[in-house]
Amino acid sequence: MPDNQQIDNGKSLDVIVVGAGFAGVYALYRLRKLGFNVRVYEAGGGVGGTWFWNKYPGARCDVESTEYSYSFSEDLQQEWNWTERYAGQPEILNYINHVVERYKLSPDIQLNTRVASLVYSEKDNYWTATTDQGEVVSARYCVMATGNLSVPKLANIKGLESFTGDTYHTGLWPSNSLDLRGKRIGVIGTGSSAIQAIPLLAEQAEQLYVFQRSPNYCFPARNRMLEPEYLTTTKANYPALRKAARNSASGNALYSIPEKPALSVSTSEREALYEERWAGGGLNFLRAYTDLVTNKDANKTAQDFIAGKILTKVQDKAIAQTLTPKDHYLGSRRPCTGTNYYETYNRNNVTLVDVRKDPITQIVAKGVQTEKELYPLDVLVSATGFEAITGALKNIAISVDQGQTLNQTWAAGPKTYLGLMTAGFPNFFLVTGPGSPSILTNMLPAIEQHVDWIGCCLHHLRTQGLNRIDVDITYQDDWAQHLNEQAAKTLLPLSSAWYVNTPVDGEPAWFPLYVGSFGVYTDKCDQVAADGYTGFVLSTVGSDCTNRTLGSLVKEAVLQ
Ligand code: FAD
Ligand code: NAP
Repeated sequence: MPDNQQIDNGKSLDVIVVGAGFAGVYALYRLRKLGFNVRVYEAGGGVGGTWFWNKYPGARCDVESTEYSYSFSEDLQQEWNWTERYAGQPEILNYINHVVERYKLSPDIQLNTRVASLVYSEKDNYWTATTDQGEVVSARYCVMATGNLSVPKLANIKGLESFTGDTYHTGLWPSNSLDLRGKRIGVIGTGSSAIQAIPLLAEQAEQLYVFQRSPNYCFPARNRMLEPEYLTTTKANYPALRKAARNSASGNALYSIPEKPALSVSTSEREALYEERWAGGGLNFLRAYTDLVTNKDANKTAQDFIAGKILTKVQDKAIAQTLTPKDHYLGSRRPCTGTNYYETYNRNNVTLVDVRKDPITQIVAKGVQTEKELYPLDVLVSATGFEAITGALKNIAISVDQGQTLNQTWAAGPKTYLGLMTAGFPNFFLVTGPGSPSILTNMLPAIEQHVDWIGCCLHHLRTQGLNRIDVDITYQDDWAQHLNEQAAKTLLPLSSAWYVNTPVDGEPAWFPLYVGSFGVYTDKCDQVAADGYTGFVLSTVGSDCTNRTLGSLVKEAVLQ
């Protein structure tokens, strides 16, 4: 009998949380602390989400570990010691398992259970989930912590299934200790995952072939072990650092705040700052000047600087040219960080295949066939990314009674209000959903901010004798408009990044993420709540919710 059989009585749960990555785990902690009866369903065999699934060689965060971590507990942040500037996947997975253990969260997390459908009953004001284990559970509220990058995507290449060697996707890597020594390995893709994996795969491979369609910018990570003194100082400064991160543009306190436009300074001053940022490593490079992601000419100065760096690192000038992006602005696609990425192409056992010049025609039993050549392989690695942002939600049959499904509602793209809810789907919350800053920020503060907002909202409903919340569609449309206006101030919509919507059926696309400052966004969400949930429609269904108690709308009081 499934261990939650006893809760399968229709109405004993307050909240169903789907997904046990950083978002689902924190949602359980926070909502349980607020007195809600919560159960988390996770498709995987362990918690951790991204860090459970992405065990490929080199997988690590590109936000500094001390910032890519929960801030909700002073005890937790004081007792945990990050070992590296950018923690590797095993360490991050250990961390989230530690959190689950420390706060005794496991009993309310059901692993190996995929939520297949979610149906809301208008009459009863309940969501009912059906899982792939055949269980049926109901709850008043749903919190979708299903992840923006949790559904791996394969390349649409003819014959992929006919390859007879071993195949792996970076987002479904079977084990940290997969041994590929002496193999002929092909990697399709050169995004963040590939850029981390390629140097380490090259060390193992007899021969490595990288099939590149679009080159990406890669900043040197400059990863290092963290000195005890650094950790001591960071821990002492945590309250200030966390506050600064929450108020910052991208959820990072350790990034500098740019002061001047790139074109307002002399070439030598600009080059000197670029050199400093390159030497410092990481994504802070983009924060060198105020206009790097808003002004094409400013952007070009940074592009040229990086093109020069690639030329100095890669001995073969033709390969250096192939590795240099020419089709997008720096920062308009999420830049990558890596260790020895460009240098790897100096190795004798590494071949870069430019599939724009020599397209892949098909995958065959023995390898990859391009127009000009057959590349024989033992192993084919798909580093081809994810069904990003909406993939996991699309895989669940979500509807209100037998009405329109979420997929139908979002056919032209995912519209939400603040990225938190979508009109017509009451009591259905999204964590870092489309329309929020989400994957353009440090995701840990973004997750905490969303979960805290949801927690405060549920507390408010409960204390006000309410039990239903939906979105006023006019506010949702205005929000979509606002997303476009914000994005249009930047170079981001000009790229073909995986987060840029394309028009469907002639309807103009809108930008699916909030590119304004994370701090500004947080203030907006707080203001909406403080004003009594402007743009949301709050109501009471049925008679089980009449006990009105005095509640607090002051966030700090609710979350203490
Ligand atoms: P996830 O970690 O994706 O967890 C979602 C979970 O939901 C998954 O475990 C999935 O199995 C489960 N799920 C989905 N659908 C269902 C269903 N129907 N039923 C049951 N369970 C379901 N962000 C940063 O800010 N900094 C970084 O450095 C960074 N590095 C990254 C590196 C990689 C390789 C990748 C892929 C992403 C990275 N990200 C990074 C983004 C990362 O996804 C987030 O930082 C964060 O881990 C997301 O947490 P989450 O809980 O929202 O989603
Ligand atoms: P991705 O950025 O979407 O990259 C996918 C790659 O596959 C691209 O290079 C793409 O080329 C290529 N590709 C897809 N189909 C192809 C085809 N048919 N033929 C040739 N190439 C093909 O995916 P990702 O690298 O997994 O990264 C996704 C996101 O996860 C990142 O943007 C980041 O947010 C996060 N991430 C972060 C880190 C980190 O450093 N902490 C590490 C990994 C992932 P095109 O560009 O031409 O489409």
